[in-house]
Amino acid sequence: MGLIVQKFGGSSVADAEGLKRVAARIVATKKAGNQVVVVVSAMGDTTDELIDLANQVSPIPPGRELDMLLTAGERISMALLAIAINNLGFEALSFTGSQAGVITDSTHGKARIIDVTPGRIREAIDAGSIAIVAGFQGISQDTNDITTLGRGGSDTTAVALAAALEADVCEIYTDVDGIFSADPRAIPAARKLKTVTYEEMLELAAAGAKVLHLRCVEYARRFKLPIHVRSSFSPLEGTWVVENHPEGGTMEQAIIAGVAHDKSEAKVTIVGVPDRTGVAARIFQALADNDLNIDMIVQNVSAAATGLTDISFTLPKADGAEATTVLKKIQGEVGFASIQYDDTIGKLSLVGAGMRSHPGVTATFFAAMAEAGVNIEMISTSEIRISVIVREGDLERAAQAAHTAFGLDSDQNEAVVYGGTGR
Ligand code: ADP
Ligand code: ASP
Ligand code: MG
Repeated sequence: MGLIVQKFGGSSVADAEGLKRVAARIVATKKAGNQVVVVVSAMGDTTDELIDLANQVSPIPPGRELDMLLTAGERISMALLAIAINNLGFEALSFTGSQAGVITDSTHGKARIIDVTPGRIREAIDAGSIAIVAGFQGISQDTNDITTLGRGGSDTTAVALAAALEADVCEIYTDVDGIFSADPRAIPAARKLKTVTYEEMLELAAAGAKVLHLRCVEYARRFKLPIHVRSSFSPLEGTWVVENHPEGGTMEQAIIAGVAHDKSEAKVTIVGVPDRTGVAARIFQALADNDLNIDMIVQNVSAAATGLTDISFTLPKADGAEATTVLKKIQGEVGFASIQYDDTIGKLSLVGAGMRSHPGVTATFFAAMAEAGVNIEMISTSEIRISVIVREGDLERAAQAAHTAFGLDSDQNEAVVYGGTGR
């Protein structure tokens, strides 16, 4: 007997049929003698639909109210799932994030979990019930207001609860059979990975592979908690996210884990920045003070004649308008000429722990881009990742070219997409 935390994503509980299928799966785990805690997302595209509604009544909905609205999505699915399980003759109790003890800071829309105090969950499972917890939400320690953890945050609820309850495993059920060498929705030849390391998955998630929320991977690594990503639509074994690949992994697996592509970022270029000490600090401090996260940064060499340079950076499109406003406020003080905003870019990343010890990966990657006729606008690297910014229209072709160049294409037709709209 063990304690298993299972998380079901929105496409797994998109309708009544989905809820019943998931309920049966949960009951099977319980029948096998386990204590079961379930984290559930909002049904289908509910969260997107609620955001659209909010935007129809106001162009800038207040963060507190938007969080209150969005958390309703998970309350609907948790109660329906508990009802479906009760109908199968098993006791299930649903809990909001706040009732489950998910304590966060007060940053609406992207709150961080500070503590998890799952007393009521422990009581429920010790009494033989199945506990169903609303994902993606918590309560702020300072303000007592309801918060959300950022898009895709139910994964993080699941891992945080699993860590707090010292669960044996956290199972993330989704609409594909595991973690693949590329997004199966875009690259049909993607191959399913048996294992991926925390380190590789952190890079993939940060690079836009939304199969796992970035912070859930950080959490799992900190607590050495194994994550099993698998499909709620098939019985197949999925992908294990672990500390190290087991001995005897294949060569490809050792060098490159996969590629990730991301259309959610925009590029801001600050033109004609005086090349003086402290200027970059002033610019990025102003952005940080407004909780704006920056991804890639490139600064050109300044032109000798003018002493001026350009600084480009990328950030989530959703933060683009606010970043531009913040920069305009400091334009006079910093003395730059203008701001350019471009939201038709795409980011392609190649990730693999084997990059450390295999020279030539960069050369192969750039040769593949050249052969595919893809122009590269920005580059950034870590020890185990290369990311490039390209035109948005070139992105999927570039991803396919890199995937093929590193021998990742699979001939098994395993990249099955069971549900979801990819939204
Ligand atoms: P859920 O609703 O279950 O949380 P998500 O839509 O958040 O599901 O995440 C699953 C989706 O992630 C898949 O449908 C797939 O399109 C996408 N994805 C992106 N990169 C990968 C990858 N490397 N492996 C698997 N899925 C990926
Ligand atoms: N429902 C939330 C979202 O769509 C959280 C999640 O699904 O993980 O982002
Ligand atoms: Mg998700």
